[in-house]
This record gives sequence, structure tokens and C-alpha cells, in this order.
Amino acid sequence: MSHLMNTYGRQPVAFTHGKGCHLTDTEGKVYLDALSGIAVNTLGHAHPAFVAALAEQAGRLLHVSNIYRVPQQEQLADALAQRSGLAEVFFCNSGCEANEAAIKLARFYGHKRGIENPTVVVMEKAFHGRTMATLSATGNYKVQAGFEPLVSGFLRVPYGDLQALKQVAEHHGNVVAVMLEIIQGEGGIYMASSEYQQGVRQLCNEHQWLMICDEVQCGMGRTGEWFGYQHAGILPDVVTLAKGLGSGVPVGACLAGGRAAGLFGPGNHGSTFGGNPLACTAALKTIELIEAEGLLANAERIGALIRSELAAALKDVPGVVEFRGKGLMLGIELDRPCGELVGRALAAGLLINVTHDKVIRLLPALIFGEAEVRELVDKLAPLVRDFLKG
Ligand SMILES: *Cc1c(COP(=O)(O)O)cnc(C)c1O
Repeated sequence: MSHLMNTYGRQPVAFTHGKGCHLTDTEGKVYLDALSGIAVNTLGHAHPAFVAALAEQAGRLLHVSNIYRVPQQEQLADALAQRSGLAEVFFCNSGCEANEAAIKLARFYGHKRGIENPTVVVMEKAFHGRTMATLSATGNYKVQAGFEPLVSGFLRVPYGDLQALKQVAEHHGNVVAVMLEIIQGEGGIYMASSEYQQGVRQLCNEHQWLMICDEVQCGMGRTGEWFGYQHAGILPDVVTLAKGLGSGVPVGACLAGGRAAGLFGPGNHGSTFGGNPLACTAALKTIELIEAEGLLANAERIGALIRSELAAALKDVPGVVEFRGKGLMLGIELDRPCGELVGRALAAGLLINVTHDKVIRLLPALIFGEAEVRELVDKLAPLVRDFLKG
């Protein structure tokens, strides 16, 4: 009888170690990892230069309180500001915390403008986390059920529908921000078009709303640019990061620029662990290695290769509805619920995930190479074909 609280549907496997894009389980069986701990292990497993940097930092200093200066935080904030175009950064430990910071920032911004009941517009099918505020912002009733009363101050619109946002602008005077994922991850790998992103940016400008992009899953190079919004040539006011930021070391960030910058002062927000020297070293080294190894270009090229190779291998297979996504954030929608494929893939030595019932989700490490693409296609295509026959 386990003493773990029963919060996850777990596969019956445990891993002892990994190398690159492969993991080994307690029985010695080797798996191709096409999920990276759900977009976390940016550099794959046991990257030598990354491990060395962590070991060195661990031997020096793990943690100091945020009541002192933390030089690694200052360096990491510089690195993120340079690459994102946003002016300042708050560090935390996870995606939901980054989004909590963004929501607090939006409310604070509203109050400063004299709006007493600030409202944040959020999207259908959104996922922003499982704390009370972020599950309230999430557009999935399964995440919310049983935890009512929800946090108020959110207004929901369909994703990708600019007209709906214009309606909101006409009828609601309390709106302070629009919050969205550039690619909805948990929602089934749906991407906001460039036109939509540009339209949201323009509406936010017209009404002095903050544009908040939750890039917890799609950020940090996964789509082939540092951040998903960069494909559309826009600049949000607030961007949240976590998952891939520390390549497996927990670290999250809330970035703010434009009218969202300079709002918080001492005492408005904080975190005991947020941005400690170990976490910041992990993120700094992740950024350095993404650049040294050309991993942005790799994400774009290998993502396109996975897509074309899988599309070729599954051509004429009835039941494959659509390939979606960008770079190494890919979804393959089938015409039926396919959660069972996760276990079948595991048996075949492949780690994948299924989201939104019918969407196979691939989130490989940014170091994924051509040999791994071949292995992925050789393993996944027959599984999908057999599943759709059965
Ligand atoms: C995973 C995820 C979160 C929540 O991150 P946690 O670290 O689990 O709190 C928030 N937003 C998006 C888009 C995510 O994919």
C-alpha cells in the first residue's frame, strides 16, 4: 500500500538513469524519450556540460535567501531580457507560480488604474496550472471540478476568435489583461495564428490591457524561436516560463515589459526558493548550451523532419485527422480517444503522451537528432496504424 497521495495516473515503470534522448528502467530496458518529462528536459538527460555546471554550483552554494543579492539571478534576468525584449524578471519555481505572479501583476496594474474589480480575459481549452487562481484561469472543467468556489475575476472567450475579444472590449469596463498560450499544450496543441496574435496585441494597445503570454510549455526554444510570440513579430507585456527553463531543475519566471514593468515594489510578491543559485545556474547553462549547440535551428529542422516523416509513414491511414504544432511541440490528432497508445508505446520502448483524449503529443528534447527521428517514426507509425485498425 502506497503512502503517496493518489494524484497521478502512473505508468508501471521507473527509470534509473538517462543519456541524451534515452532512458533506462529498473529492468535495464531502454526507451526513446519523445516527451522530455513534458517539455522539461531541454538538453536531454545527463548532458555532460550541464551536469558539470550543476555539480560545480552545488559544491559552492545551493541557496541563499532573496533578502540578499543573488548574482546568478541578475545574470539570468539579463539573459532572458535580452532574448525576450522584456525589461524585468521575477523568479519562482514552477509554471503555476509564474502565472500566479502574472495574474497578481495584472490585478495590481488594474488597481493602480483605479479599476476595483480587475478582470483577466482567458481562453477556452487553456491550461495555466493547478493552484486556485491558475485552475480558475484554466479552461477545462475537469481541472476545476470539486474545487469550487473558483477565484473570480476571469472572463472566458473562444481561443483564436478576435471578434469575441472585441465584444468583450465593448461590454466590459473592468478588463485589465488578456492571457493566452501561443500554442495550447494541454488543450491539444492548437496554435494561435500570427494574425490573431497581432490582433490581440493591437486590442491590448487600444484598451491599455496587458497581453500575457503563458509560454510555460512552448517557450525556451521549443518552437524554433526562443519564444512562441516571436514567430508573429509581436511583443507581449508579460511572459511566463517554467518547464524547459532549467532543463529539469525546477525554476519558473514571470517576465514583464512595457506598461507591466516597474509595478511591483518590495513586499508585493516573493518566493523563498525562487531563483536560488542552483536553479539560476541551471537556466543560465541551458541558455548557453542552446546557443552553443544551435538548438533553436535544430528544433525547427528536426520538428519539420518528424512531421514530414510521420506524415509520409501514416499517409493513407484512415483515422489520422491532423498534424499540428511548431518545432518540437507536435500533436497528431486521431479520430478517436487514444490514451491506450501511451501504454502500447511504453511496451515498444517509446515515451509519448496523449492529451485532450485524441491527440498524441510529442515534446522531444531540443537535442533530438536524425537518428532519433528514425527510431521515433519506426516505433510510432506501426503503433498508430495497428491501433486505428483495431
Ligand atoms: C505545465 C503548464 C503550466 C503549469 O506548470 P506547473 O509547473 O505544473 O505548475 C502552466 N501553463 C502551461 C501552458 C503549462 O503547460
